[in-house]
Amino acid sequence: MADLIRFTAAETAAAVASGDVSAVEVAQAHLDRISAVDEKVNAFLHVDTEGALAAARSVDDRRARGEELGPLAGVPLALKDVFTTKGVPTTCGSKILEGWVPPYDATVTRRLKDAGVVILGKTNMDEFAMGSSTENSAYGTTGNPWDLSRIPGGSGGGSAAALAAFEAPLAIGTDTGGSIRQPGAVTGTVGVKPTYGSVSRFGLVAFSSSLDQGGPCARTVLDAALLHEAIAGHDPLDSTSIDAPVPPVVEAARMRDVRGMRIGVVKEFGGEGYQDGVVQRFQEAVEVLRELGAEVVEVSCPSFTLALPAYYLIAPSEASSNLARFDAMRYGLRVGDDGGRSAEEVTALTREAGFGPEVKRRIMLGTYALSSGYYDAYYGSAQKVRTLISRDFDAAFADVDVLVSPTTPTTAFPIGERADDPMAMYLADLCTIPSNLAGNAAMSVPCGLAPEDNLPVGLQIIAPAMADDRLYRVGGAVEAAFTEKWGHPLLEEAPAL
Ligand code: GLN
Repeated sequence: MADLIRFTAAETAAAVASGDVSAVEVAQAHLDRISAVDEKVNAFLHVDTEGALAAARSVDDRRARGEELGPLAGVPLALKDVFTTKGVPTTCGSKILEGWVPPYDATVTRRLKDAGVVILGKTNMDEFAMGSSTENSAYGTTGNPWDLSRIPGGSGGGSAAALAAFEAPLAIGTDTGGSIRQPGAVTGTVGVKPTYGSVSRFGLVAFSSSLDQGGPCARTVLDAALLHEAIAGHDPLDSTSIDAPVPPVVEAARMRDVRGMRIGVVKEFGGEGYQDGVVQRFQEAVEVLRELGAEVVEVSCPSFTLALPAYYLIAPSEASSNLARFDAMRYGLRVGDDGGRSAEEVTALTREAGFGPEVKRRIMLGTYALSSGYYDAYYGSAQKVRTLISRDFDAAFADVDVLVSPTTPTTAFPIGERADDPMAMYLADLCTIPSNLAGNAAMSVPCGLAPEDNLPVGLQIIAPAMADDRLYRVGGAVEAAFTEKWGHPLLEEAPAL
């Protein structure tokens, strides 16, 4: 039974559908794994043992009745604690939501349940998804299963660590500036930010509404594609949801053929600040793509160098507005409500106690950038940069099918190394942020270990909006080529566990 935790999602679903194994056995194997290792990893904030076993039983019952099961029925999943789950706590990694139990499911949650996916629990994250290391969680940091003294990335470090620790074969993350792809890169897993608007944000607690995007995390490209298809698609409950068919991502993941594709290497992503081993592995991945028959060219996107400052004006501006809802009246924590204080005082005391330092920093930054005297100089300028970045992408995609870069400038850094230096922390998302600002699709796929520290490196692939299938076509081919080299999976054994 120990092997059940090593199965891919596709293998698990097939084994459940054929009756080789029951969904309950699969769920129990993963719950046992969580009991065995999560004290060290701290990927989960909440494990829903009862809910998971009940969901698994229901899949087994449906099978016994001869009902047809979907392609992920009976497969366990770790859900980032930023999606609402009816009857199951949702904290967003914040003290301010401690004890809050949502009365409704996010659309993503509901679609997972409808697909027969077994939700094991909620994963750790930087508070309100603000961070690149999971160190901003109010509930302790998460360890990287490759080296527990290093960060698992962020904000979705819990989801990525759960995959790398074999606690779940699938996970859900959200990517506002890189929080799916960067954790994927530093844990040797696959993470996809789908096209903005293609996965519903209903029930996804908002950080920066024009950037936030839920997406799939997995250990293989095909598993990510299967999960992508399960969660994507139009949702009338989200007014920014795209009403168009989901691109054929599963089919693309199975192609493993990039012959004739045009691939652009982003010139601006490299050089100073990039770790040697990351650059080396990235260049090898590009060479692999060339050998597989893709045409590789260099592409310049000059405005990308302005993406980071523009993001750190736009995201905090939207956050400062979104987080105003945590007023101590409606959800979670309430501090100082002794009968003698005004609502305003209680709100202030609660926000003082309930928000961590990074969240407060962003609320102040955003409020400042939006204030009447500074709006044009900061927020307005950042929006103009956003347009320039979209134009760079448009120009690039006129010549190439996808763009590639390293996902992150470095491998996983030691816990604590950047905790007191927000600027150094923000640099982790240098390569991922442009896609959030433009709203297109991007993936991180493992491309080996950096020779100097033996830690995973991610290859980022970027495709135009609603051409998400191209990510899977390229990612699947890279994965297949590297599999021969490493013997799959890269995560043969989560080395630190
Ligand atoms: N690290 C970035 C930030 O702190 C991205 C976060 C995210 O994608 N949720 O804003």
